[in-house]
Amino acid sequence: MKLVSSLSIFLLSLLVTGATAATLLAQQTQDEHKLAHDIYKQLIETNTTESVGNMTTAANEIAERLRAAGFPASDVTALGPDARHGNVVARIHGSGARKPILFIAHLDVVEANRADWSLDPFKLTEQDGFFYGRGTSDIKDGDAILTANFIRLKEEGYKPDRDLILALTSDEEGGDFNGITWLLEHHRNLIDAEYCINTDGGDFQLKDGKPLLTSIQTSEKLYADYELKVFNKGGHSSLPSPDNAIYHLAGGLVRLSHYQFPVEFNETTRTFFERMSKIEQGTLASELAGAAKNPPDAADIKTLSESLYYNALLRTTCVATRLSGGHANNALPQDASAIVNCRIFPGGTQEATEETLVKVLDDPQIKVTAVAPPHTSPASPLRKDVLEADEKVVGEMWPGTPVIPTMETGATDGYRLRDAGIPTYGISGVFIDMNDVRAHGRDERILQSSFYEGVDFFYKFMKELSTGN
Ligand SMILES: [Zn+2]
Repeated sequence: MKLVSSLSIFLLSLLVTGATAATLLAQQTQDEHKLAHDIYKQLIETNTTESVGNMTTAANEIAERLRAAGFPASDVTALGPDARHGNVVARIHGSGARKPILFIAHLDVVEANRADWSLDPFKLTEQDGFFYGRGTSDIKDGDAILTANFIRLKEEGYKPDRDLILALTSDEEGGDFNGITWLLEHHRNLIDAEYCINTDGGDFQLKDGKPLLTSIQTSEKLYADYELKVFNKGGHSSLPSPDNAIYHLAGGLVRLSHYQFPVEFNETTRTFFERMSKIEQGTLASELAGAAKNPPDAADIKTLSESLYYNALLRTTCVATRLSGGHANNALPQDASAIVNCRIFPGGTQEATEETLVKVLDDPQIKVTAVAPPHTSPASPLRKDVLEADEKVVGEMWPGTPVIPTMETGATDGYRLRDAGIPTYGISGVFIDMNDVRAHGRDERILQSSFYEGVDFFYKFMKELSTGN
């Protein structure tokens, strides 16, 4: 009997210890969710638009929270080029066994007019299971998720095998003081890392309310504007000549509209087509598989090119976006000009694209000049360690949901870091419905459950990337 009773006491104590540990974990998760929520609310309610907002205020709020949570003043720096475009950088010190990892999100948001919205864009509204407000999905969710996890890891006394760096920055959406570029130029030592995780890229996608896929953005197309100009001696419009500035320009633009750049692939896009072919159904699935073949199936490429998105993933694109010319209704035009915006496939250059444009426009009277300063934006290698850590946590949290490498057809701060030699991986951690993307638009929102899952995802992911204790 004694044996039995001591055994049952032993079992009981095991049960109690287990229960206590589980309760403790639940409590910690709950506390962290509340913390993430409070940071999110504070940031949404701090206007950080370029017009009237202040990013320094937001940077200082985060710095204050980090210091209050036990980060020494020397590990938290709020800094920037002026009093409105602040950034905040913080560091958790590791053993130094491996090089640091940088985690980023931007503090600024796109403009939002109260009159266009059905609720106040600068108040966090919680309604019908959603968080509403400017920046709820781009990308104050990322700011709050990263900050809450840095605080939690600090409070736990977590000692990673490498430094973890947090940088929340200004002017990603526009403006003259991009925080990543400014930090790289003036304080590179603060953010230098083996690689970067960017919450502003790599969407996690819901379909009919269920996880469809998670993406890891390793690559972005290169943005380049070109100005096309035609000059002509002009004259009286009652004596027209076929040698007309507007006709020259228009002819070139029509030729450009019929032109398709050659198909290109990199490691990321090939893997993208291959993995997407397993998620999609029917003919689309077989077309995606055909595109992933080496060499790709020409008929499948032709069909996929009819989709704006797949077309943009398959090649460089150049499109006319602005047009002007002439000076009077009754005069022959002395000039005509247009802007052509190109999104160059990574690895391509601004110069080579310009050469192609000149050939396609096929008119020596059209002068082509590159507008934006060139940058290289190399695709980041699909690092095995990052991919495996990502797949492990995704697999634990949302079993069966694939991780798909993606190339962004737009741009994030990731390209600035890639240009500076820091490979960057866009991983948002937050599921959104791709049919309900409201970033930059009105009534921006995300699911509350997706936000909290994002908090949990990054807690596990940060630990997975930086084995420690
Ligand atoms: Zn963004």
